[in-house]
Amino acid sequence: MSDRLPRLGDVIDDYCPRCRLLLNHDVTSLFGGAVAKVTCRTCHNTHDYRNAEVPPKRSRKKDEKQNLIDQVLAGMPMPPAAPPAPVAPPRKKRDLWADVERLKKK
Ligand SMILES: [Zn+2]
Repeated sequence: MSDRLPRLGDVIDDYCPRCRLLLNHDVTSLFGGAVAKVTCRTCHNTHDYRNAEVPPKRSRKKDEKQNLIDQVLAGMPMPPAAPPAPVAPPRKKRDLWADVERLKKK
């Protein structure tokens, strides 16, 4: 690396979070002599300078997917509680013998 100070418009390598690649970037913002912001020359996305560091890979896709599912679920009203299953009235077992007794009394 050269030790000359970066200047606006310099082209430097940095990790583009949108392209998810290490790509050429234009220096678009300096802070205290250091690169603060860069613009991706591929997608023109401006972001903080990341010192050309590629973030550690993780299963981001899976996380995002799960996140989306959670968000969708969180945004959905709770499904109405299922109506209680219709309870059949307990069928009275006809006591034929009781009927016979009643008839006898009459
Ligand atoms: Zn990009």
